[in-house]
Order: sequence, then C-alpha cells, then structure tokens
Amino acid sequence: MAYATTNPYTEEVLATFPEATDQEVQTALSEAHAAFEKWRDTSFAERARIMNAAAAILRRDIDKYARLGTLEMGKTFAESKAEVILSAEIFEYYAKYSEELLKPESLPVADPATGKATLVHEPLGIVFAVEPWNFPFYQVVRIIAPQLSAGNAVLLKHASNLPQCAASCEDLMIEAGLPKGLFRNLYTARSHTAMILEDPRVCGVALTGSEGAGSIIAGVAGKALKKSMMELGGADAFIVLDDADVEKAVKWAVMGRHWNAGQVCVSAKRLIVADAIYDRFLDLYKKGVAELKAGDPMDPSTTLAPLCSRAAVEDLHRQVEEAIKHGAKVEAIGQEVPEKGTFFRPLLMTGLDGENEARHWEFFGPVTQLYRAKDEADAIRIANDSPYGLGGAVFTKDEARGARVAAKIHTGMVNINHPLIPKADLPFGGVKRSGFGRELVGLGIKEFVNHKLINIVDIDAPA
Ligand code: NAP
Repeated sequence: MAYATTNPYTEEVLATFPEATDQEVQTALSEAHAAFEKWRDTSFAERARIMNAAAAILRRDIDKYARLGTLEMGKTFAESKAEVILSAEIFEYYAKYSEELLKPESLPVADPATGKATLVHEPLGIVFAVEPWNFPFYQVVRIIAPQLSAGNAVLLKHASNLPQCAASCEDLMIEAGLPKGLFRNLYTARSHTAMILEDPRVCGVALTGSEGAGSIIAGVAGKALKKSMMELGGADAFIVLDDADVEKAVKWAVMGRHWNAGQVCVSAKRLIVADAIYDRFLDLYKKGVAELKAGDPMDPSTTLAPLCSRAAVEDLHRQVEEAIKHGAKVEAIGQEVPEKGTFFRPLLMTGLDGENEARHWEFFGPVTQLYRAKDEADAIRIANDSPYGLGGAVFTKDEARGARVAAKIHTGMVNINHPLIPKADLPFGGVKRSGFGRELVGLGIKEFVNHKLINIVDIDAPA
C-alpha cells in the first residue's frame, strides 16, 4: 500500500490506506469547485473567523497534532509542538492581514482626468497542493492559510508517509467551520496529477519537495498551461566571517544543521568558515555535535531525532559513499546512534573542492559540508558555487558588513547572525534550482489570484 504510517523510531508499520479512485478525485474536484463558487464571494471577515478558529484548535490540541507528527515522521516532540504553534501563527497572520493585502489598488495613470484605473485581486479556483513530509502541518498551512483566505479552494496530496497527518489537516478545517469540499486531502495515485492539473476548474499547483518531483509536476502543469509555484531543495551556506562571535555562531551552526534531524530545506548544510577562526570553530563544532543525544523522539532529553524512514537512511549513506568516491573526506563527529530506529550518526564532510561534484549536492540529514574560506570574497564565492538558491546565513559582529555580504549571495533569503528558521510573518522561497514563487506574507497570498484591471474611462477621452 503506497500510503502508510510507519513509526521511524520503532520501524513498525502501524496503518495503511488505499489510494484514491479516479471517481473519488472527480468528486473532490466537483465539490471543491461548487464550494469555491460560494467561497469566492464570502467576506474576508468570515474567512478570517475560520482561520482564527483553526489556529485556536491547533493551540488547544497541540499535543494531539504534535504526537501525530512525531509518530509519522520521527521529529522530536518539542520540535513538533513548535511546528504546530508556527502553523497556528500563519493562520492568525492571514486572519489579520488578508483583506488589507488583497485590497484593490489605484494605479497612477498619466492623465487622471480621463479615467480611473484599479487593480483588484480575485481568486482563481482550485489550487493543487503537493507537500513533503518534513513539516507535516506547517507545509500544508503555508498553502491553505493564504489560498483559502484569498478565496480559492485547495486539494492536498501530502507525502505518502503522512496519511494520518494529512487526514487530520482536513478534519481540522472542517472543525474550524470551513465549507464542505473547499479543502480536501486525497491519497492520489501518480496518474491523478495530470487528471487534476488538466481539469479547467484547477488554476495551478503549489509543490514543496525535491527537484525531481518539481520538474515532473511543473512539466505536467506547463503542458496544461497552469501556473506552478515550486519550493524545492537547498544547500544553504552558513558563512562565519573572521569577526564573528565564534562560540555563538557554533551554537547556531549545531542547531541549524541538526534540527529536524537535518531534514530541512533551509538547514545550514554548508558551513563556510573564515581561515582565521576555522580551527577554533571546528573544535567547538565537533564538541557541540558530540553533545547531541539520539533517542526516543517523545523523550524531552532527545536532541537528535531519527530520519523519516529506513529508505532515507539508506539513500543518505549511498550519497555519502558517492561523495567519498569523488574525493570527499568523511568523519563521524556525533555519538554512536541506536541501532534500532532510523537514526543517522552525524558526519563531517570536507575535501569539497572545485573538482568534487558532491559540493553541489543536497544532503538531507545530519551531514555537515565544511569549507575553509580564505577571506570574505572567497566565502561569497563558495556560497554562490551551488545550483541551489534557497537561503543562507552570515555571522559577523558588523551588521553592515553582514548586509553587504548578504546582498552578494544569490538566494531567496539570508539571515544575519541567525540560522534560517521559518516564521509566520516572513516570506519563504528561493531561486535557481530551489524553485520559483514565494510563500507566506503578501507574496504568497497573491500567487494564485487574478490581478485584474478595472479601468473606468471617460467616454470622451481621446483614443
Ligand atoms: P519529494 O519526494 O519530492 O516529495 C514531495 C511530495 O511530492 C510528496 O507529496 C510526494 O509524494 C510528491 N511526489 C513526488 N514525486 C511525485 C510524482 N512523480 N508525482 C506526484 N507526486 C510526487 O520530496 P521529499 O523527499 O518528501 O522532501 C525532501 C525535499 O523537499 C528536499 O529536497 C527538501 O529540500 C525539499 N523541501 C523544500 C522546501 C522548500 O520550501 N523549498 C521545504 C521542505 C522540503 P509521495 O510521498 O507519494 O512520493
């Protein structure tokens, strides 16, 4: 069975779910469209009431949702709880700001005496959301909060290892009072992607996931002449300049690379450290990683979770072996991890010079790629030597210098003196092979709306 709950800590298969039939997908499309026809004219106040209700349910039932996330993909319970809160904050953000973000805009025109031009932002229909397993709730809310607030409908295809989290997202919105059919979880088969995207009632697809899935699904959308928004992989640079507070930078690097067991698109995957402080940084970094404790993700003392599946562990080992064949040097820097459960012992990887193609790979787990930079310019060069362009971080005591370096990094997001951690009120997205489009804030809510011009012209205006 494709859709199944397997606990990564015990590796037990706990439940399986059949794929949706063609008829179920067709029914979901029809019901979503019927609901959209009413929802598009529903007031912002009513939409906001439902978003706030969803947030309140998440806050009230935080343990229930967090436990389910940990059960299906293995992250620590504390990280799961933080994710549920972040999801509630996104609902609250859109409850508060959607009307303002989508209010009609008056356009400046050359001759105001001859007419009045206004841009209105109208919903477009059903958005197909394809989401990954690494944040079972946040990834979904990142789409449904803005899209439902904009007046669209959403059909969700969540990762096949999260069937219960996916179903709980639909239950959440029903309990919050969302009209029936407007948002539905579907255990789609591969063949359903084209069926959904070719349907005229569907306006586009938002996908978060790997480059492989992104290029297939953006291809299907392109053939159907539908818009796509792609949030793909990343290999974020974490630059530590020579004037950085080394102790604090190390603390953030350990956390930035290992939270969510290193399975975050914006994990600090490539540490780029100035020559002058490299040795001290490395010594402290190894000590910091050695303090991580792998174990039961429900145990509050656990700080290193298992990976999401046995296949993820095997894939990561294979990728490390390939990197070694290309000349990478690898050293175990964390403690031994339990044999039972899908754990992966933290590794440090060096030898990633210009000849080694592994410098361009995304390692989705606790593998730290470490680089020694001769100076600031060299650090920027290494940071930009990547096919990805998602996020990044720069550590320096000089904020203006940090901002100057950030301006030269070719990614969608850069933090100064902090690893990248998603927030409800900041945009999210990348460039190059990390995808296109932006989620969250005003940018995210405008991805699937019709920016329609309404132009009132004086009938006697010149041609
Ligand atoms: P994935 O294999 O691409 O899966 C993502 C979603 O796409 C899942 O729902 C998956 O369903 C679906 N999918 C994959 N191939 C498909 C196909 N041919 N047709 C229809 N659906 C398909 O990615 P992942 O391994 O779960 O996630 C890790 C990747 O996501 C990493 O590269 C990470 O950096 C990236 N990511 C990016 C962001 C961001 O915001 N930029 C955030 C988080 C993760 P199945 O489970 O059924 O295969």
